[in-house]
Amino acid sequence: MTTPGTSTGTGTGLGVRGVTVLYRDEDGTVATAVDGVDLDVAPGEVLALLGPSGSGKSSLLRAVAGLEPVAAGHLTWDGRDLAGVPVHRRGFGLMFQDGQLFPHRDVARNVAFGLEMAGVPRRDRDARVTELLDLVGLAGFGDRPVTTLSGGERQRVALARSLAPRPRLMLLDEPLSALDRALRERLAGQVRKALTATGTTAVFVTHDHDEAFTVADRIAVMDHGRLLQVAPPADLWHRPATRRVAEFLGYEAFTTAPSRPSGTGTPSGPFAALGAPDGTVLAFGPGSLHRDQDGPVHGTVVTAGFRRGVVELVVDVTGLGQVTVVEPSGAYLGGAPAPTPGDQVRLRVDEGAVARVPNATDGPVGRG
Ligand code: ADP
Ligand code: MG
Repeated sequence: MTTPGTSTGTGTGLGVRGVTVLYRDEDGTVATAVDGVDLDVAPGEVLALLGPSGSGKSSLLRAVAGLEPVAAGHLTWDGRDLAGVPVHRRGFGLMFQDGQLFPHRDVARNVAFGLEMAGVPRRDRDARVTELLDLVGLAGFGDRPVTTLSGGERQRVALARSLAPRPRLMLLDEPLSALDRALRERLAGQVRKALTATGTTAVFVTHDHDEAFTVADRIAVMDHGRLLQVAPPADLWHRPATRRVAEFLGYEAFTTAPSRPSGTGTPSGPFAALGAPDGTVLAFGPGSLHRDQDGPVHGTVVTAGFRRGVVELVVDVTGLGQVTVVEPSGAYLGGAPAPTPGDQVRLRVDEGAVARVPNATDGPVGRG
């Protein structure tokens, strides 16, 4: 009972093939929430499903859980079809934004719930509860009434409770979204640690890209019911498949890589040195440009503001458009004046912080 990683097994994990989820309202109108999604989640992998509100993330997750009917396509676990397998027989764990703890059970008995249901003997149960509370950073909290816990503590109890019965797949739907930002960032790291330490395969739904990048081995970007791109975090960040993905990640301005007409030597212009194949779209965002008094790029300050310990300048960059330039605020200690709107600035490009968008069209991926 206490061997970690038994949920990884040697199978192929979750398979999603052409899955469509439809909603029909009273007057018979049909809306497509999930539109022919293909996706694999390997054993032990943590996949983040990232997309704006209303993009179909919860609908897809609920379909995987068996809570929502699949209108087309099919779902498999280790290659076996899940059609007809009821929610409680799938062996999947679920966790939501509001962890919905049992108010009349203390912390330990909340975590023990699934183990009690499975008829796990008392001693094994107690050992597992201690192990899980330790894992989520709540050692010694076993006797606490859940009504005395903070929001972050509650969600950690909910996570421990879901993980206790060793689900073969954990499905987490915006589990941190009700918490404030600083706590969310800290807990995202803890959730990742708890999932990876137990070897748990997981799908983590979020609309927050920072959270997705912290938690996931791979990120699936969803929009209007379709997957736009599925990639490891660094690949997604540096090589967003389409402009829409790049915009969703926070890239602000785009330009086509300078072309090299045959026999005319090297291209000119401030972005000419950026190595990229012809036609590649270069995407600029916060961190792509830095102030440099000798820099080749010119711009005009639009706004300047202090935010989370840095000074952010929105600069209208000549030949590019508005891009946020981030500077350490230490440069302005003692009241040194920050740039003001209308100031002319010169910039250099941080080539490693410019994304290459290989494909300017925005067709969906994930369909055969
Ligand atoms: P997300 O989790 O990404 O915010 P959802 O899966 O909740 O997105 O919703 C996707 C789309 O399906 C939205 O347009 C939403 O309004 C619609 N939808 C979700 N649940 C229902 C429902 N129970 N009945 C009708 N439409 C729904
Ligand atoms: Mg949702």
